[in-house]
Amino acid sequence: MKLRSSALIVLMGMLAFQVSNAQQKFNYPGKKKQPQVKQGAVTDTFTSTNYHEVKEISSKRKRKRAKNVILMIADGTGSSQFFAAIAANRNRAYLEEMEYVGFSKTRSDDNFVTDSAAGATALSTGEKSYNGAIGVDTDKRPVKTVLEIAEEKGLATGLISTSKITHATPAAFIAHQPNRNNYEEIAADFLNTDIDVFIGGGRDNFNKRKDGRDLLKNLKENGYQLANTLEELEAIETGKVASLLSEGHMPAYGKRGEMLRPATEKAVELLSKNKKGFFLMVEGSQVDWGGHGNNTKMIVEEVLDFDHALGAALEFAAKDRNTLVVVTADHETGGFSLNGGDMKTGKIEGRYTTTHHTGVMVPVFAFGPGADQFSGIYENTEIFRKIMKSLRLKKQ
Ligand SMILES: [Zn+2]
Repeated sequence: MKLRSSALIVLMGMLAFQVSNAQQKFNYPGKKKQPQVKQGAVTDTFTSTNYHEVKEISSKRKRKRAKNVILMIADGTGSSQFFAAIAANRNRAYLEEMEYVGFSKTRSDDNFVTDSAAGATALSTGEKSYNGAIGVDTDKRPVKTVLEIAEEKGLATGLISTSKITHATPAAFIAHQPNRNNYEEIAADFLNTDIDVFIGGGRDNFNKRKDGRDLLKNLKENGYQLANTLEELEAIETGKVASLLSEGHMPAYGKRGEMLRPATEKAVELLSKNKKGFFLMVEGSQVDWGGHGNNTKMIVEEVLDFDHALGAALEFAAKDRNTLVVVTADHETGGFSLNGGDMKTGKIEGRYTTTHHTGVMVPVFAFGPGADQFSGIYENTEIFRKIMKSLRLKKQ
């Protein structure tokens, strides 16, 4: 009887998934249903004029244990996207300073091709769930995230994103919702964990809500300093911060400008005041949208921006010696490949096989104490376990 009802719940969950992810056309493993691929591959070439200098990061100084973890997720970023940025930055990127490289198998519980919600839930909770799941298991039950467990153990915690902070990737670290589209419920979940710093877009989900609640007021009452601009954020020197820099998603890099790196620097500055350590997740959200749009310019600019922010994380980690930095993606987007290019001019000839996500392995890069654990090929859920082990945290 028990078995039957749980099977029913799973079946209902699967049906709900079919409805809520109508736009998700992939239905692996189904031999007859092919992913929607445009006839022939699409080429989109871009020559990057952006360039950032890359300082050498010393890893020679003696390490202690990982007291802090900075997990950086480049959404929709496979090996080709990472390499496009290296090539466009004249064959040099902070990514190359990472010490160990592995590969993550990204499939979700119900799909060969994951979405960002299930992808981030695997990274945040160590559980494979269904596409659309935000911090819940296949039965839609909440699962504690690494951020929540770190916070409970007295570590400082933070989230940064270039999309809405309520978007799937950051959401899966702090919220528990059966559906990624429950933006307002996700915003309310930010009040349930005493997260120290969060920076991104999505102010609308906090103060222009169907239920009329003003969560910004609640956050203020809970001791958060609000920062609506980067300047306001820069001025904060201590304490808890809720920095919602735009009403919806942050604009693309061309309009957004330098935001991810200064946000990362500020978060690290604030969180590192905690003697017990910290957990920070930083998302470069919009590489994924470049992939969906088969837009090489967007991919290159967003990964370059991400790499520049990684530089800030690595500079801190090299000095601090107690910080593990992990860079990975939730999945690849676009079936992106590089059919040509020029490292002298920053030209990238990108080719695409789809406007959706793909099921390829994505790289995992690690630097700092415990980085050696990240070489090899493993499920995305193992990244959660490796981070938990590094921080000496136990799954609850
Ligand atoms: Zn996507």
